[in-house]
Amino acid sequence: MTTQRTTARHAEVAGAGFAGLTVATALAQRGWTVRLHEQNDDVREFGAGILLWRNAMLALDVIGVADAIRADGVQPQYYETSLDGSTVSAELPGYPYWAITRPRLHALLADAARAAGVEIVTGSRAVGADPAGALLLADAGQAEADLVIGADGAGSAVRDSLTDLAQERKKYSDGVCRLLVPRPEAFRGERWDRVIDFWTLEPDAMRILFIPTGPDTIYLGMMAETRNPRASRIPIDVEVWSQRFPHLAQVIELAGKAEGGRHDTYQTTRVTPWSAGRAVLVGDSAHAMCPALGQGASVGIVNAVDLAHALEQGDDIEVSLARWEARERRMTDDAQARSAHMAATRGLARGSGFTPELMETANFVSAAVSEELQARYPVPEANRSW
Ligand SMILES: Cc1cc2nc3c(=O)[nH]c(=O)nc-3n(C[C@H](O)[C@H](O)[C@H](O)COP(=O)(O)OP(=O)(O)OC[C@H]3O[C@@H](n4cnc5c(N)ncnc54)[C@H](O)[C@@H]3O)c2cc1C
Repeated sequence: MTTQRTTARHAEVAGAGFAGLTVATALAQRGWTVRLHEQNDDVREFGAGILLWRNAMLALDVIGVADAIRADGVQPQYYETSLDGSTVSAELPGYPYWAITRPRLHALLADAARAAGVEIVTGSRAVGADPAGALLLADAGQAEADLVIGADGAGSAVRDSLTDLAQERKKYSDGVCRLLVPRPEAFRGERWDRVIDFWTLEPDAMRILFIPTGPDTIYLGMMAETRNPRASRIPIDVEVWSQRFPHLAQVIELAGKAEGGRHDTYQTTRVTPWSAGRAVLVGDSAHAMCPALGQGASVGIVNAVDLAHALEQGDDIEVSLARWEARERRMTDDAQARSAHMAATRGLARGSGFTPELMETANFVSAAVSEELQARYPVPEANRSW
C-alpha cells in the first residue's frame, strides 16, 4: 500500500494504546488526516486500573475526554500509606487526580479518536519507519506521511528501526500483578474512596496498591520482587499474599479468582533524541518508566497532546519536533529518574512521600492548556511545587 499525501497534513501512527490514541485524536482535531495501525485484531486494554494525575487530566481536557473520566472514575479523597497494617500518612486531600479502569479509559479515547475522524486499522503491524516519512507495515508495504509516529509501546518496532536514536533500556527486579476485582460491601463508602498503598518490607518488599475505580470495581497493583516467584504470578497465590496482608484477605480472595489480569516487570527506556527526520516516538516507546509514581501513561498523554500543539505552531515539521522535545524532555527525564529512585529506595513505603519535588510531574502543565482550563484543576497549597 502506498498512500498519496493530500493537502491536509497526514500522519501514520503505530499503536492504539493510550499514547497513540491521544496523539491521533489531538492531530485529527487540528485538521490532520490520521491513520492509526494496531497490531491486535481489536482495540482494547487489559483489566486493571490507572491513576490519571493532574498533568494528564489537563491534557485529556484539551481533547475533550476529561469530563467523562471525572464522571466515570473516582477522585480519591486521600492517598493513604499503610505499613505493616498501620496507617503512616494520608496525603493529597483535594488534589485533582482520578482513578478509572483501563478498559474504560481506552474506550473513551478510542471513541474520541473515531469522532475526530481517525481511521483505525486493526491487525496491522508496523515493522519500522523511514525518517523520510513512511511507516513500514508487515503486510501492506509502506504508508507515506508527513509525520510517522511510533506509539507502539516499550517494545517498539518503530523505535528499534530508527538506528540514529540512542537507546538505554533497563529491566528491574520488581514486578506487579495488576487486576480488577468486584468491590465487596465492606470496601464501599467514603472510608474506601481513597488510594491505599499497603506495604510490608520484611522479609522482602511486597505492596498492594488499592485503588477504587468506580462503585463496583477495585484495582489492585500487587508488587513483589521477582525473586519471590509465588508472589510474581497470575493467577495470584492467595495464600502468600494473605499471609503478608491478613487485613486484606477478603479482596485477596477475590483477586485469586479475577480474570484478565497481568504480571509485568519494571522497565525503563531512555531514547535520545525522540525523533529522526519525520519519524517521532510518543509514550512508552520513548520513555517507559518504573510505575512507582504511576506517571507513565500520564506523561505519554501530556507529550502526545503537546506534540500536536507544537506542530500547529509551525510549518516545518522537524523544527516543531525539536521545539516540542526541548519543552518536554526535562519533565520526562525527571519523572523517569524519580520513579526509578522511589522504586529502588522503597521511598513511598514510609509515607509522606509526595514532596513538592515529587509533585513536579503531576503539576506539569502542557503548552496546549489554557489558563482557564488550568483553573478547573486547582492545586491545594500543600501540593504545589512552585
Ligand atoms: C504496574 C504498572 C502500573 C502503572 N500505573 C500507571 C498509572 O497508574 N498511571 C499512569 O499514568 N501510568 C501507569 N503505568 C504506565 C502505563 O501503563 C504506560 O505508560 C502506558 O500504558 C503506555 O502507553 P503507550 O500507549 O505508550 O503504550 P502501550 O500501552 O504499550 O500501547 C502500545 C500499543 O501499540 C500496539 N503495538 C505494539 N507494537 C505494535 C506494532 N509493531 N504495530 C502496531 N501496533 C503495535 C500494542 O498492541 C498496544 O495497543 C503503569 C505501568 C505499570 C507497568
